[in-house]
Amino acid sequence: AKKQGRNRYFWFEAGMEHQLRLRNELEAGIRRGLSNGEFVPYYEQQIDLHTGEIAGFEMLARWISSDLGIINPDIFIPVAEEMGLIGDLSDQLIEQALSDASHWDPTITVSVNISPIQLRDPWFAQKMLKFLVKHNFPAQRLEIEITETCLHENLGLVRSMITSLRNQGIRISLDDFGTGYSSLSQLQSLPFDRLKIDRSFVGDLARGGGESGSKIIDAIISLGDGLSIPITAEGIEDEETLEMLKKMGPLKGQGYHYGLPETSEQVKERLTKLGR
Ligand code: C2E
Ligand code: CA
Ligand code: CA
Ligand code: CA
Repeated sequence: AKKQGRNRYFWFEAGMEHQLRLRNELEAGIRRGLSNGEFVPYYEQQIDLHTGEIAGFEMLARWISSDLGIINPDIFIPVAEEMGLIGDLSDQLIEQALSDASHWDPTITVSVNISPIQLRDPWFAQKMLKFLVKHNFPAQRLEIEITETCLHENLGLVRSMITSLRNQGIRISLDDFGTGYSSLSQLQSLPFDRLKIDRSFVGDLARGGGESGSKIIDAIISLGDGLSIPITAEGIEDEETLEMLKKMGPLKGQGYHYGLPETSEQVKERLTKLGR
């Protein structure tokens, strides 16, 4: 039994070593990628479900790594956060997004995701203002998406950051709504400009779980009504879900039904075809 235990210990160690090496390579890759401009914005359409028209685009980070190919943010964002590089990474992406979006029709908004860590940077709001001025971009066209995890600690700090961003005219959306632990009183005391219903609820609609899924969405829509906060439904994957949502209220929506996230060039082509 002892021998077996030692063996197991050995394999555990070997696994750890392997993981550490992968992690080190990932970190080195992120550093290199950052200085080589390998992090680029992709864009997902945000549709006004009532008119069917493009209202905006959500910027989603991609890492175009020469070694590894296209890497999604779930892999590199948490690591960049731990490395203390999320601010630099995000700054690059946001500036690129503002520069891209300044070529779009001026009615089209751009949404960016930020990490809780960034909200705790006392200079964050000022930095955003600086970027807006530099790219001659109206604050009203920029939306910042934060997740409920931002609300877990230091609510006072978060509130003052949100307030100073909104005072500049930037809009703040609460992302992945319904999956976190934000209490309704927090929602009332923090000024949000939009709630984004998490795609897990939207996905349930057409998956037969329709009954309970639509009840939750109905509840979020009437909450939004009561607080006068507009709503976006995320993760619309098919026509059936879209039709159900259209009947439920005046929503914006996004999801793979409208296509996968696209590069800036693809967005420009799409908008040119639409005359926007
Ligand atoms: P999110 O903000 O909730 O973004 C939506 C994610 O769902 C995106 O994944 C998008 O590609 C995916 N998605 C969109 N429509 C559908 C659909 O119909 N079905 C399904 N199954 N998925 C859909 P992505 O691009 O991998 O991003 C994952 C998360 O990474 C984002 O979740 C966001 O929280 C975070 N993220 C992305 N870009 C950034 C960034 O620049 N900074 C920070 N801090 N986080 C970012
Ligand atoms: Ca988002
Ligand atoms: Ca989301
Ligand atoms: Ca998410």
